[in-house]
Amino acid sequence: MRLSYRSCRSGRVKVYEQTGPLDFCCQEMRDEWGIVIGFGIKGHALTSSREVNIFTLHPQSTGAIIPGITEIHYCPWCGEEIKVVRVKRESSSVGSEEDRTCTH
Ligand SMILES: [Zn+2]
Repeated sequence: MRLSYRSCRSGRVKVYEQTGPLDFCCQEMRDEWGIVIGFGIKGHALTSSREVNIFTLHPQSTGAIIPGITEIHYCPWCGEEIKVVRVKRESSSVGSEEDRTCTH
């Protein structure tokens, strides 16, 4: 499958957001996208991770549950390669891509 992302700046932090249409490799990926697998961190449109990740939960002895991510490069269902493509700045607006402010 294939998806694209772009970088932007949220305050002083550089983050990434998924952009454009998703090209799913199989129905399982389509069904599970955003639930057990997705771009970056679950529930966050902007993320410091620019990979496709499996979402995991790690219960601690204190009772807290810490969410985790595991980066993957191939679909766990059909085995197709996951291509993550960075989108370059499309307009000729002033300033570098890194200075673009997040839309979220
Ligand atoms: Zn697949």
